[in-house]
Amino acid sequence: MEHLKQKNPAPTNGPGGGPGNGIFDEVNEAVEAAWLAQKHLIALGLEKRERIIEAMRQAGMANVEMLARMEVEETGMGRYEDKVLKHHLAILRTPGVEDIRPEVFSGDHGLTLVERLPFGVAGCITPSTAPSETVFHNTICMIAAGNSAVISPHPAAKNVTLKAVEILNLAVQSAGGPVNLVVCLREATLQKASEIMKHPKINLLLATGGPGVVEAVLSSGKKAIGAGPGNPPALVDETADLPKAARDIVAGAGFENDIQCIGEKEVLVVEQVADRLIAEMAKSGAYLLKDEKEVDRLTKLVTTPEGQVNKDYIGKDAQVILHAMGIPAPDHIRVIIYEVPANHITVREEFLMPLLPIVRVKDVDEGIELAVCIEGGCRHTATMHSKNVDNMTRFARAIQTTIFVKNGPSYNGVGLGGEGYGTMTIAGPTGEGLTSPRSFTRVQRCTLVEGFNLRS
Ligand code: NAD
Repeated sequence: MEHLKQKNPAPTNGPGGGPGNGIFDEVNEAVEAAWLAQKHLIALGLEKRERIIEAMRQAGMANVEMLARMEVEETGMGRYEDKVLKHHLAILRTPGVEDIRPEVFSGDHGLTLVERLPFGVAGCITPSTAPSETVFHNTICMIAAGNSAVISPHPAAKNVTLKAVEILNLAVQSAGGPVNLVVCLREATLQKASEIMKHPKINLLLATGGPGVVEAVLSSGKKAIGAGPGNPPALVDETADLPKAARDIVAGAGFENDIQCIGEKEVLVVEQVADRLIAEMAKSGAYLLKDEKEVDRLTKLVTTPEGQVNKDYIGKDAQVILHAMGIPAPDHIRVIIYEVPANHITVREEFLMPLLPIVRVKDVDEGIELAVCIEGGCRHTATMHSKNVDNMTRFARAIQTTIFVKNGPSYNGVGLGGEGYGTMTIAGPTGEGLTSPRSFTRVQRCTLVEGFNLRS
């Protein structure tokens, strides 16, 4: 795979013929190029599409370490080793063309075929929290579905996004695919993102990010898929295997310093086992703040005077936050834990930091009610640690999240250490769930009436 490896400098454009890298200054040029590429793609047939996707996976795998490193350096968020795992998940476990197999109905009245067709050109807005992984997941899905993709990069992750697009573009061409099947804008501005949304040749919009961008695509008047924020609670009842629950919760929240939308953001624990769970968490890589004064200092540090999230600490290691509080912390610490009432700001709001506020509840019923309220209708992710199947079923029914993980870290729910395909885009608000190529297709029913029933 050595020949697929890319060097690090910022990509240059390749306009007018030669192998293009898919990077454009103007929205109109980018969309027109992607529009033409999509026409070529569908003319090539499914076998070729599969070979193109295989080339994208190979080129991605050859560049994982470089992309993961660039991502940490550019965004200043998350953890290199976790970004490597996320890249593997996106590149290898995103389904391909097999995901758009047709459905068939055959009976007395003939044969009906349900085919999945492309939309055309998709506009994709990508986040800073998984910029390159999201480009890989979204473009593998889009191309498997027969679409081309115009990427609007996050301003805080522009270089790594452009690098991923360049790698993908060259991979597509190496497999005989069209130039500019995946394109990206060199400069990332809200103005340009909004031009993409309005462009008449964009048929589908996909937003992976915070509430603002989801709202923007949903009000575009076009077919839009929104993958928005979450505030996943972890509920622990008195039947749980406490050492395992503690390890899983710390692992889930510590992964990527909790910048993941799916990461455990607060723990609700039944009073009867709260002390034991906290002690186990402290043995499993969590740092326990010792009193209310320390909790107040932490709260002041991670919020602004206006009561907003202090962006300086998003995605930083627990050691950085503890150091800013004057607390030395050993290397193995992954998250900071502390007890607070349920109305504490770090419980109510999505803090993309390795913080795990712990709230005691009198019993599982109170825990379920509170968790539903804290999740805030995002319908994103929740986890539960319990051996009581009735309790788990009641919680799953009440919270109605897209991902519900039982007795494991949250990332098991996206195929990392759990069964199922991998995804980087979890479309809760619009209901597609964990996106795969079929999420980006239109359904066509083709009916052949009578005269074709091989059974009679
Ligand atoms: P963000 O919302 O700050 O940015 C996302 C992108 O949207 C950026 O390119 C930004 O410039 C653009 N944008 C923002 N508002 C816009 C508007 N009104 N019009 C056009 N473009 C706009 O997101 P982020 O900080 O990079 O990512 C973190 C957020 O994304 C968290 O809330 C996280 O939970 C969520 N997230 C969700 C998923 C999911 O699959 N559901 C995946 C990753 C991240």
